[in-house]
Amino acid sequence: MSSGSTSHGHHLHAQQEDPTQTKTIRQTYAQRLRGAFGRINSTILERVIKDDILGLRDSDVSEDQAQQLVETFAGVAPRHELQAVDEPPDLSTVDTDERIERFREWLETAMESEVLEVIDRDENVWVRRAYERGLEDADTNLRQAGLDIESTDAEAARQLVQMPVHERKLQVLFSRNYAELDGITNAVAQQITRELADGVAAGENPTEMARRISDRIDKIGKTRSTVLARTETINAHTQATIERYRQQGVDSVGLEPEVQVQTAGDQRVCSQCASVAQGGPWTLDEFEGSENQPPIHPQCRCTVIPIVNEAAAAAITEHPHEFVAMYRTGAFVDEARERYETLATTDAAGAQELVAHFSPTQAAA
Ligand SMILES: [Zn+2]
Repeated sequence: MSSGSTSHGHHLHAQQEDPTQTKTIRQTYAQRLRGAFGRINSTILERVIKDDILGLRDSDVSEDQAQQLVETFAGVAPRHELQAVDEPPDLSTVDTDERIERFREWLETAMESEVLEVIDRDENVWVRRAYERGLEDADTNLRQAGLDIESTDAEAARQLVQMPVHERKLQVLFSRNYAELDGITNAVAQQITRELADGVAAGENPTEMARRISDRIDKIGKTRSTVLARTETINAHTQATIERYRQQGVDSVGLEPEVQVQTAGDQRVCSQCASVAQGGPWTLDEFEGSENQPPIHPQCRCTVIPIVNEAAAAAITEHPHEFVAMYRTGAFVDEARERYETLATTDAAGAQELVAHFSPTQAAA
């Protein structure tokens, strides 16, 4: 590592790869959404190719070939059953225009009952869990910063989240997730309908049609819903953290950028978020809802840390790259104030050395 942000990345071994610790939440949320799109995909392929409900075939595709096509494009075998909607109707004898229209009607129903059913307008278990984790993390961070508060475990967070201030935030998050997913399903339905209409008009064979359908399900449905799950999990975590800091009387915050694992075990912070982090500290009022609030970019995994006293505020200004490591060593806890006073008077290299001295495990490798 030579210069600039890469040397800082090297130093920041001390930081966490996933500071919000919401990886499992993000993954299961995304998997459930992708699974729902996958079920719709395989059902459409099976009905369109094997049962020829759109009347595409010149009967030159054998039963076995049709089965193979479905498996190739659905990426699953055996077939995943739809859970809440009937299969698309046989439209092979219906007029072409009406054929596509009636297929679209089925598709919209299928999206609603399979994909949107994964979450709800008024409840979303993944968003709720991420929010609870945010409340826990906020209190852990405050204790680490030296505040004398009780620790909050998962059970305490479940109680805490019932406070009206948190419930209100959650409701907004739930409907936001629902609206975004609704937008994704509409886009998928619209694009598949268009692909089918184009394919039928062009007299395409089942293979070409299968490719069109699966491509839209993957690129629009699965890809966008995965980004939605990841990004909204972080959003819920951040909002919980900010609201908890407010409740605990903290009014200034900084940013802990995620660490990305690169090849060969090398780690560095995301350069975009690292440069945003240098802009801290912010008051909660200027931070909340600003472009500095995570998620800063799609799939961002940064977290918000409290600035509890002047020593911490000075440190983040003077030594933005070392700040998180200093914070994790407890440098701003009142009893350890003299540690910081030495740190604050040194240059960046000195700050790194002192971090290493006080807490070797927190220092650069
Ligand atoms: Zn980030």
